[in-house]
Amino acid sequence: MGTSETEIDVLAVFSHPDDAELTVAGTLLKLKSQGYRTGVLDMTRGEMGTRGTSEGRALEALEAARIMGLDVRLNLEQPDGHVWLTEEARTMMVRVIRARKPKVIFTSHWDDPHPDHAATCRIVREAARLSSMRRYDEEHGQDAVPVPALAHAVYSRLVPPSFIVDISDFVEEKRQAIRAHVSQFYRADTTEPVTRISEKGFLEQLEYRMRYYGSLIGVAAGEAFYVREALNVDDAVALLSRPMNIYS
Ligand SMILES: [Zn+2]
Repeated sequence: MGTSETEIDVLAVFSHPDDAELTVAGTLLKLKSQGYRTGVLDMTRGEMGTRGTSEGRALEALEAARIMGLDVRLNLEQPDGHVWLTEEARTMMVRVIRARKPKVIFTSHWDDPHPDHAATCRIVREAARLSSMRRYDEEHGQDAVPVPALAHAVYSRLVPPSFIVDISDFVEEKRQAIRAHVSQFYRADTTEPVTRISEKGFLEQLEYRMRYYGSLIGVAAGEAFYVREALNVDDAVALLSRPMNIYS
């Protein structure tokens, strides 16, 4: 994996060490195959999790990073369960954006019912804007960067996707990246307490969701994103003549 200097094209910022895998792993795998440099930033080490230890979870995150072919996997070491929009968190995020210079950031949606996820989204949105302001955190010695584009992973039926990425060719690798988090998901042979995501049905539901979003664009599997800003389209014919599902 890359050094502390590695610049990347796309950065996925989520709260807990398996969140990026569950939401955008297929898209990260596809972008990697298209030649982009990809990274994941976890806000916490997931130490509040009912199952697993933070040391074990760090090893799982590295194995998942290898499967996803990430150029970098970073951790902001915010307190799990207590991720807040603080000046410290904003500044740390600005420093990552200025060092890594992602053109695009994927993160959660501001309406997410998990407080850590909602706070992560707000930290990312504010830091993305602040990273372009020359005087913000000037004493740290980094140059300002253009505001990266933000796309939010869609989970709610109340949020209409702005676009859906066809991940049909990357479903198996996405499953492997998720399964790398062995402490978190269903295993018949464990005595650890059952949680929402370790129930046998959770991964099945995730599968149905990928299939559903795929069906909206007429493919086998998809990941959905919401962009708050208007998309600047250069070639409307090229964009709109791609296969669509008129029943979506
Ligand atoms: Zn999470």
